[in-house]
Amino acid sequence: MDINSFSDLGIDPKILQTVVEMGFEEPTPIQNRCIPAILSGRDLVGQAQTGTGKTAAFGIPAIQMADRGSKTPSILILCPTRELAIQVTGELIKLAKYIDGVFTVPVYGGQPIARQLQALKKGAQIVVGTPGRVIDHLKRGTLKLGALKLVVLDEADEMLNMGFREDLEEILSFSHGKSQTVMFSATVPKPIRQIMNRWMTEPEMIKVEGKTETAPGIEQYIMEVRDSVRTEAVSRVMDIGNFKLALIFCNTKRLCDTLVEELQARGYSADALHGDMTQIVRDKVMNKFRNRGIDMLVATDVAARGLDVDNIDIVFNYDIPQDPEYYVHRIGRTGRAGKTGVAITFASGRKRKRIQFIEKVIRTRLQPIPMPSMHDVEQSKIDAHYEELIETLEAGGLRPYIEQLEPLAESEFTPIEIAAALFKMRVGKV
Ligand code: ADP
Ligand code: MG
Repeated sequence: MDINSFSDLGIDPKILQTVVEMGFEEPTPIQNRCIPAILSGRDLVGQAQTGTGKTAAFGIPAIQMADRGSKTPSILILCPTRELAIQVTGELIKLAKYIDGVFTVPVYGGQPIARQLQALKKGAQIVVGTPGRVIDHLKRGTLKLGALKLVVLDEADEMLNMGFREDLEEILSFSHGKSQTVMFSATVPKPIRQIMNRWMTEPEMIKVEGKTETAPGIEQYIMEVRDSVRTEAVSRVMDIGNFKLALIFCNTKRLCDTLVEELQARGYSADALHGDMTQIVRDKVMNKFRNRGIDMLVATDVAARGLDVDNIDIVFNYDIPQDPEYYVHRIGRTGRAGKTGVAITFASGRKRKRIQFIEKVIRTRLQPIPMPSMHDVEQSKIDAHYEELIETLEAGGLRPYIEQLEPLAESEFTPIEIAAALFKMRVGKV
């Protein structure tokens, strides 16, 4: 059965109205299958890659199922990071725009607990939080799960990777048997299956093949360079490629920091995003990146996971990802919403094996490209100025400048020499 309209999914007309206003023309495959299943009351495990619209897949039924105006929350959504909790809350608030009596409140570490207490006290029907902070509130008695109808685990595999297993089990032990449990995960490894068996009732498995698996809009390259010249390679690619927003992945926090320093020393506006930074700093960095205040974000997998930033032109794998799944997630940050994107993975000779493994899993060959030469960089600079020159000539209005230069042209210099000198001043050293 193929449904191609939101209006066939049993959604409240008022939510439908927002969906239309948000410009969603048709449900994504995961939304198509999950929305009716969640509304029917079933436990469910949804497996899909990043960027497939999972937030609305659980967000729409969550809003619809929330006990409107109730003092205790009926929906709990768990996310691995503060950024994701904030992002999910934002999307839910948007989706609930025309629904009265449904308020969504985020709770996460790093924010003063007093502010969250106040928000909870006013009466939140949907709580979105990181597992640690949710446990804090449960222990303080400031969050009560007595009226819970639905628990959603977003990015469940990532929560386990981050060491939230105990916290998750503790929360699920509160809700087990009383509420519906829905889980989203890009992968379903053994620990996830254990949680399913233990805390879920005959969950329906919904797996959607990620379009990122083949990533039609993303050009995937491998650049074989030694580790020590990777930063130079990033710079050259950025200089010649006319890329505005770049996301660069490293496997460790330390390397992120080092790389940011190197890029800043080269005059780029770059910033890091990783788990060692305080919440305030992370928010600042994300805002700068979204508003184009920086043009390179250097991140670890965990920090960048699930972040929804549009218009990333290029993704660099400064380090080869630990896992092919990570590769898919990383490059899926570009080429979103039908746009094209570029992904470049650095690898030196002996790392070729790991690339081959990734290529096998994703069933795609990465195209080798050479590192741009200094000559390429200079040529691209000249090309850019050349274009600017032609545009200026075509735009006209040169009379006053001609008058300025005429005396010089009557001296020992030819007009072409004068033009060349100005071009040299403009382009810099060739
Ligand atoms: P995931 O959680 O699967 O990584 P998100 O829920 O963050 O994906 O959605 C990715 C992007 O797609 C968001 O910008 C979201 O607003 C958009 N989106 C979600 N559903 C639709 C839809 N049906 N049509 C168009 N865009 C959508
Ligand atoms: Mg998501």
